[in-house]
Amino acid sequence: MPSASSQSPQAIRGAFLDFVNDPFYVSDAESVRYIPDGLLIVEKGAIADFGSYADLQAKYSQVEIVTYPGKIIMPGFIDTHIHYPQSEMIAAYGEQLLEWLNKYTFPTERKFRDKAYAQTIASLFLDELLKNGTTTALVFATVHPQSVDAFFEEASRRNLRMISGKVLMDRNAPDYLTDTPETAYEESKQLIQKWHNNGRLLYAITPRFAITSTHEQLRLAGKLLQEFPDVYLHTHLSENLKEVEWVAELFPECKNYLDVYDRAGLVGEKSVFAHGIHLSEDEFKRLSAAKAALSFCPTSNLFLGSGLFKLHKAKSLNQPIKVGLGTDVGGGTSFSMLHTLNEAYKVAQLQTQSLSAFKALFLATLGGARALSLEDKLGNFDPGKEADFVVLDLQATSIMATRTGGLSTRLAQGSTETELREELAEKVFGMMMLGDDRAIHAVYIAGELVHR
Ligand SMILES: [Zn+2]
Repeated sequence: MPSASSQSPQAIRGAFLDFVNDPFYVSDAESVRYIPDGLLIVEKGAIADFGSYADLQAKYSQVEIVTYPGKIIMPGFIDTHIHYPQSEMIAAYGEQLLEWLNKYTFPTERKFRDKAYAQTIASLFLDELLKNGTTTALVFATVHPQSVDAFFEEASRRNLRMISGKVLMDRNAPDYLTDTPETAYEESKQLIQKWHNNGRLLYAITPRFAITSTHEQLRLAGKLLQEFPDVYLHTHLSENLKEVEWVAELFPECKNYLDVYDRAGLVGEKSVFAHGIHLSEDEFKRLSAAKAALSFCPTSNLFLGSGLFKLHKAKSLNQPIKVGLGTDVGGGTSFSMLHTLNEAYKVAQLQTQSLSAFKALFLATLGGARALSLEDKLGNFDPGKEADFVVLDLQATSIMATRTGGLSTRLAQGSTETELREELAEKVFGMMMLGDDRAIHAVYIAGELVHR
């Protein structure tokens, strides 16, 4: 609920870092925007003005200013793939994807038949996201429509921009978790009508993955997407080798895994596919042509032993694919986007690639917004966008302070822009490798301070 304070303008002063373009495709000078002493004006939950304090000071002399000395303010982090019902089974030992689903995931998801239980976990989940500086996420619920209601009610109470949907599963899963093509279609349709564009909430049609849906269920999901072209399609794609083999057996007529979704009409601009570890050349090409997005989930891919995401390939110049970052909790091992960037860096290293801090932080902010087709609303500090942002403390722990020491003075007085940017890259890289929820000093949602 927006309070009275969000109706009159507010001003935040500090060092601001965001992206105005994609550093994978243009230079840092053209993509990174760093304002050592900036001013952000928020009105009615949106960014009304943004620039250097020196330039804007006179114009807003009447507005009370909140200052964050020595901190860095960034747009809220965007998690493009996560499962809220798996919060309680994070860090489950010993299995890879298919066994992990049967042994841990399905029994846990069964509990979400109980709406009150779903509400409790949704509340815990959203608090955990905010604590970690994640202000928007694309979220799996369970097969139960009430799990979606519970999630959206909690997200709405916090005024968050969240995307979720009921899981579709009509085979290769326990009876207690399956729907039918028809119930999946009807229940999803009702949920879309109830929640899509209800406040800041958005809906995603959510087949779990090709293995747990029949042809008929996928076909009806495609029909639904045609009826509501503005909603998202959110699913898993090519995560694990055994999964890829099984999909080939279940859909022998399809030329590859992505083709299963494509034939059902599920591959488009608002489709987000988690993982995409074992994609063929054809699949990369098709994703690029369709302007579909991939969610790169490094902690999950390492934890479940799924493989190494080819970020350099997905972000190639000649065949670009929209990429966001996902924690994929509970396959992923942390709610923290900083921790996720840390692991993303290592996944790139194992393929002799270097993921710079700017590229990584782009993926966590504007890149995520683009992957979710939300760049008109989120991702940076452009006026008109929604005022979801985080205040980062690069000296949150003693080792971070030692590693990034001197930020406030030296970065504020950097001599040339290039020197300033190079030093900043160095410092924020330290934060990305060492940081976690302790580095999240404050979180604002639609201009409201919600966590500190
Ligand atoms: Zn997942």
